[in-house]
Amino acid sequence: LTSRQTRREDTVVKLGDVVLGSHHAPVLVAGPCSIESHEQVEAAAAFVASRGVKLFRGGAFKPRTDPYSFQGLGEQGLRLGREACDRHGLLFISEIMDACDLPLFLEYADVLQIGARNMQNFTLLRAVGRANKPVLLKRGLSATIEEWLMAAEYLLSEGNTNVILCERGIRTFERYTRNTLDVSAVALAKQETHLPVLVDVTHSGGRRDLLVPLTKAGLAVGADGIMVEVHPNPAVALSDNKQQMDFDAFDRYLEETGYHKKLS
Ligand code: PEP
Ligand code: MN
Repeated sequence: LTSRQTRREDTVVKLGDVVLGSHHAPVLVAGPCSIESHEQVEAAAAFVASRGVKLFRGGAFKPRTDPYSFQGLGEQGLRLGREACDRHGLLFISEIMDACDLPLFLEYADVLQIGARNMQNFTLLRAVGRANKPVLLKRGLSATIEEWLMAAEYLLSEGNTNVILCERGIRTFERYTRNTLDVSAVALAKQETHLPVLVDVTHSGGRRDLLVPLTKAGLAVGADGIMVEVHPNPAVALSDNKQQMDFDAFDRYLEETGYHKKLS
């Protein structure tokens, strides 16, 4: 069902007045790694909205490697994210980790993100596949392109056609970067499937100094948009404090990637 052989025309996912896929202008998803407090999410949402961003990200249920690190605010985080998005006219994207949380996500989120670590959580895929909400499906840390597309197949086969793929870097032997952005996977996903494809440049490189070049690379190989993390004060962020941008860095990023023109 994901294949271009089954469906020739591009799937276009409509999120409010944002259109994703086909030959529409590339979108930008921005927001903090985690929703941490009312003040933090309000500052981030107000700022990115002022720059023309329409799609806001923020995790409330966080899939952390270390069980003793910040795990997210849970339902309260979803509520804070929802309220901030409503105040600033943003659509809200947040990661769901467990099928049992689906009712909460249906209430609070506009797009359900399935994270890299849950790409093959088949129970979750089936549950989200039956939900009437767009899904952003990240590629697993060590998933082949075929496994990634098969995960998307789970969603489509349950009836959910509003599926957005997201390449976020894969695990390789390289250690200068946190993950290796697989640009071939982006180009191939565009070629082999009719689904929109995003590139998460924050988790791909895990380095602020690569956000601009990886964005250019992603768009050059046909990505329909980019995801980045922005935080009012990354140094004190409760997750991913090494790679989130502060507000000044985000302004430079918009300028250097040309997104300032695309968003206005
Ligand atoms: C995220 O986007 O918050 C995240 C945890 O990303 P990934 O699943 O790609 O690691
Ligand atoms: Mn993060």
